[in-house]
Formats: sequence, C-alpha cells, structure tokens
Amino acid sequence: MFEYAPAPESREVVDIRPSYGLFINGEFVDGSGTPFKTVNPASEETLAEVAAATEADVDRAVQAARKAFGVWSALPGSERAKYLFRIARIIQERARELAVLESLDNGKPIKESRDVDLPLVAAHFFYYAGWADKLQYAGYGTTPLGVAGQVIPWNFPLLMLAWKIAPALACGNTVVLKPAETTPLTALLFAEICQQADLPPGVVNIVTGAGDTGAAVVGHPDVDKVAFTGSTEVGRLIAKSVAGTNKKVTLELGGKAANIVFDDAAIDQAVEGIVTGIFFNQGHVCCAGSRLLVQESVAEELLSSLKRRLSTLRLGDPLDKNTDIGAINSAAQLAKIRELSEAGEAEGADRWSPACPLPDKGFWFPPTVFTGVSQSHRIAREEIFGPVLSVLTFRTPAEAVEKANNTPYGLSAGVWTEKASRMLWMANRLRAGVVWSNTFNKFDPTSPFGGYKESGYGREGGRHGLEAYLKEIS
Ligand code: NAD
Repeated sequence: MFEYAPAPESREVVDIRPSYGLFINGEFVDGSGTPFKTVNPASEETLAEVAAATEADVDRAVQAARKAFGVWSALPGSERAKYLFRIARIIQERARELAVLESLDNGKPIKESRDVDLPLVAAHFFYYAGWADKLQYAGYGTTPLGVAGQVIPWNFPLLMLAWKIAPALACGNTVVLKPAETTPLTALLFAEICQQADLPPGVVNIVTGAGDTGAAVVGHPDVDKVAFTGSTEVGRLIAKSVAGTNKKVTLELGGKAANIVFDDAAIDQAVEGIVTGIFFNQGHVCCAGSRLLVQESVAEELLSSLKRRLSTLRLGDPLDKNTDIGAINSAAQLAKIRELSEAGEAEGADRWSPACPLPDKGFWFPPTVFTGVSQSHRIAREEIFGPVLSVLTFRTPAEAVEKANNTPYGLSAGVWTEKASRMLWMANRLRAGVVWSNTFNKFDPTSPFGGYKESGYGREGGRHGLEAYLKEIS
C-alpha cells in the first residue's frame, strides 16, 4: 500500500546529536532536571544525552499546548488534515533514518522497524488525516477535549507515539507527550518532523524524562485527557491519581495472551503464527502470544516442528537485515526475564532454547520455550515481556476457553482452526479485546485495539479511537 525508502543498513543514515533538549512550543529548549543517557542495548554504548523535564518544564509544555489549542481547534478539519498528511509524507521520506534510529535506541531488528513499525506509523497518520474533516460521521461529538497528556512505553516507541498523536490532532486537541526513558530518540526526531511540516508551535510538545516526568504530565491540572500505555502497575497508579478529576482517561496495559491451536489447524501455518506471536520484537509486545495452548493430540508434532523452526532464527546485530531476534531493551528488562525464567525452572517446568550463542556486549536473551507448564506457575500467570513461551495443553474447546480466560489480563488471543464455526464459538467466549483467527500480531489503523480486565480500558485505532479525543454528544 505504501512505498518506502530502500533497506536501511547502517547507522550512517542517521545523524545522532550528542545531546537533545525538550521540544516545547515548536522549539528545542533545555530541561531543568539532570540529563540522562540513552544507550544502544545491543552494545551498551551511549547514543546521546537527553534532557529531563521537571514539573516546571512540564508546566511550560502544558501552557504552550493550551495556547495552541485555541488556534488548532479553530482550524477547519480539512486544514488540520493537510498538516497530518504532510507529517505522514515526511515520515515516509525519512523512514530509513527513523527505522535505523528506532533499532539503535530500542534493539529491535531493522527488518521489523523498517517493514512493520514505520509503515504502520505512516499509515496511522494517513488514516487519521482522513478523519479530520469527517468527524461528524464518526458517531461522536465533534468537539475536541483540549490538552492531551500522553505517556508511552519503550517497546514500539514511534508506533505508540503515532497511536496517540495522530487521533488527538485529527480531532483538534493539542498534546504533551512523554516517551519512555530508554527510547526517547525517535520521538525527538518526530519533533523535528513537526518543525519541518510547519505545524503551529505548541500543537505537539515532547517532554523527556523518567516516571516522575510522566506523573507530572498526568497530574497537571490543565490536562484534559490522559492517554497512557504501559504496565498495569503504573496504570493503576495513574487511575488513582486522576480519580475525582474531570480528566478523560484511556489505559492500554499489560497482557498474557493465549495462542490456541486445535488439532485441525494447518500446523506449519500455526508454527509461523506462534513464532510471530511471541518472538516478534523479542516478545516485548503487550499482546504477545506468551501462552501457547495446544490440543493434546497434536502437541508433540507441533512442538517438534516449532523447535526445528526456532533453530533457524538468527539472533544478533539489530541493524543486520537478516536478524530475526534483536537485543532486550534494557538491563532491567533482561533481569526481569531472567528472574521469571528461573522461577519457571524452580517451579518444575522444562526449559528449552535452540543452540544460540549470545554476543558478549549488550542485553540478550535466547528464544525460550517452557513445556510442562501448569496454570499456577508464575510463567503462566505473569507478563514476562520477553522471548519466552509457556506451553500448556487442552483436550476440549471448553477447556481451552477456561484456560485462556484464566488470567487477570484480557488484551488479545489467537485461535488456529480450519472450522469457522469453532472459530466463532471461541471468539464469543474469549475475554480479550482482540481475537485473531489463523494469524497473530496483525495490526491495522482501521481496527480498534484495547483490553478487558487488567489490560485497561478505552480503545485506540479505527473510528473508536476518535472517541477518546472528542467530547460526548450531550
Ligand atoms: P511502564 O509502565 O514502566 O512505563 C511506561 C511509561 O510510563 C514510561 O514512559 C514511564 O516513564 C512512565 N511512567 C512510569 N511511572 C509513571 C508514573 N508514576 N506516572 C506516569 N508515568 C509513569 O511500562 P514499560 O516497561 O515502559 O512498558 C511495558 C509495559 O507496557 C508492558 O506491561 C506492556 O504490556 C505494556 N504495553 C501495553 C500496550 C497496550 O496497547 N496495551 C502496548 C505496549 C506496551
């Protein structure tokens, strides 16, 4: 659908500055906090020093966004659309640079940032640009909320930014966005793109920093809308902190998805879907298929086929276009994955990884499969957010539903079967915001995405994603 620049192959295509400021009112400015370093997780080398925003800096950003709201919300939708289309086109033109920078800062393989993240980022801006002059057809009000305070995680830095900024701007809101502290660089390059697109100053503000900066954004009294994507723990803190205010809130939180394979499924196709489900982006995916539920009669055949397939995956340099598994985003995340994997062994599950030498420098974890997992094991209950698959078996569809729903989360699920009636029967019973059928981890800007239970509330994407940024019709 979209055309992109040729394959990026080296860091030379991106000009990383030694230090970055905050982006407030259309300009890069100093922060008042102690600057922090962002590192390349594949080498542990420092990429750049980044400004930290204090409460006072966040206040400046919110004031800039408030002032810009008057101008931006008064523009006809067709004018706002022009800016969004322009941003989308510049993203396509600079896709190569953005993809390399994303892989350097995050550790994800370049073939994913180039072929998945960047195309989807551009597609979100194109899609919501198309809505800007058609809001009256969305089924909600057409009045924007005001200033949106947006806080995002590190697993899809630019894509999460697009999910947040594109619908907010299309509806006439202005934004203050805080990227994750381990992956701030593509958000700052996006700030440059806003300058290049001549976006009016203050419409987009980017404040970098850690959790305290996020808390200042969310807690600012002049923020009308809070959009958060991240862990369920922080989501809970945010829900408490905004209780009793008039802020409209959406929370996109964690997951522990079941990928369910029936005995009539096309096994080779299911194996590919399992690999994409849990090893894409090193398993740093909120909707990752981290629990494989396989029907007992095909479990042995499927597992041997899966292990053969995993032995062909290549782990290593994220900028090598042949790499399938990149680096773990941070030392802290690596420690969490190791801790949970050790708990899996201690609780009696069987651990398997393909022969897979790990680089000496950087943060790495091999693709890992646990069999003999029971529902009470921590690896079956807690979000690992890494390349670790927990395998459980079932006999009947009812048992599959019971096991799939036996989790506090409810973000996504996958069902592999050739029977349409069984697919629909399952989809009606699975407590998950997204149910994929004979595929996994497929995204599209036209589809709403969001959770049940402790995976959060509100929807992003599609027509439903507009609702979060518009006043209800009274
Ligand atoms: P995290 O909750 O630690 O951090 C997310 C963001 O919140 C970061 O920018 C962080 O600085 C900020 N933050 C931390 N404390 C804060 C506070 N008290 N107030 C405001 N902001 C604060 O999550 P993470 O480790 O960056 O990301 C991983 C988590 O995100 C996983 O649980 C994953 O499932 C979830 N996630 C969910 C979705 C979804 O759409 N449901 C998408 C991607 C990631």
